[in-house]
Amino acid sequence: MAPPPRIAIIGSGFSGLCLGIRLLRLGIDSFTIFEKAERLGGTWRDNDYPGAACDLPAIAYCFSFEQKADWSRKWPPQAEILAYMEHCAAKYDSIVRQRAVPRPVRAR
Ligand SMILES: Cc1cc2nc3c(=O)[nH]c(=O)nc-3n(C[C@H](O)[C@H](O)[C@H](O)COP(=O)(O)OP(=O)(O)OC[C@H]3O[C@@H](n4cnc5c(N)ncnc54)[C@H](O)[C@@H]3O)c2cc1C
Repeated sequence: MAPPPRIAIIGSGFSGLCLGIRLLRLGIDSFTIFEKAERLGGTWRDNDYPGAACDLPAIAYCFSFEQKADWSRKWPPQAEILAYMEHCAAKYDSIVRQRAVPRPVRAR
């Protein structure tokens, strides 16, 4: 049987987080999420200016496998979205968080 693929995921924003969780749900854990920052979250970690918020209804801005019904607002603020991402990382497997290596990488 072929060995499982080794996968590098660059970044722990919504895209990287989703890919990591999807792989785990497929039974594939031979991946690493490389994150240059010290905390996951991507855009929602970096943009915390006053009034930063989702610009479409949050019901459409969450993972299909982790719907959230109790958003405080239809267009929730940045901190609430970041908390949702951290919730997902913690719920689906702490491996996602543990493998968020705080170092930048460069494609070759
Ligand atoms: C205020 C605001 C509101 C928004 N509202 C919406 C909305 O309503 N709907 C919508 O669809 N989109 C919205 N967006 C766009 C949002 O950026 C995307 O929806 C989504 O969060 C992007 O996720 P991502 O994982 O692709 O990228 P990012 O969130 O940018 O994550 C990329 C991650 O990769 C890391 N990284 C980058 N380079 C490297 C490297 N070389 N090595 C290691 N790590 C690296 C970064 O540190 C970062 O954590 C909004 C953005 C902002 C700022």
